[in-house]
Amino acid sequence: METTLVILKPDCMEKGLAGTIIRRFEEVGFRIIGCKMILLGEDLLKEHYAHLLHLPFFPEILTFMQSKPVIILALAKEGAILEMRNLLGPTDSALAPKGTIRGDYGTDKMRNIAHASDTVESAQVELKRFFGVEELFF
Ligand code: ADP
Repeated sequence: METTLVILKPDCMEKGLAGTIIRRFEEVGFRIIGCKMILLGEDLLKEHYAHLLHLPFFPEILTFMQSKPVIILALAKEGAILEMRNLLGPTDSALAPKGTIRGDYGTDKMRNIAHASDTVESAQVELKRFFGVEELFF
């Protein structure tokens, strides 16, 4: 069993798609073991997106990700990390195939509905970043 960290981004919240997206996760067997709504702060975003800090569009990402409260989910399933990445599709929503969540609901490279951990190691770091042990219900 693996647990992955998902963020329903501001565009998902703006479009009123949180329920639709969570239903898509549950329909394929992901189990919610943690859930909270927060307004992301700059320091947390700089830590979470440290690999993008040097890129010219980073200030835009900061503004976008702070534009609305987001929903943070911890989701468990066998093979959760790779399956969730496949379910979301590639980063650029315009290139994401129909049938993937980004392909069905995303707008572009930045407004792509959801974040999901990309490796087992980053899932462990991200789960600790967003949840205390008492907030996860395995
Ligand atoms: P992913 O979210 O698919 O793991 P990355 O880690 O490369 O992708 O990027 C993190 C987030 O930064 C993306 O989901 C997207 O919101 C934003 N982003 C990435 N590349 C671009 C870009 N070229 N222009 C604008 N925003 C981007």
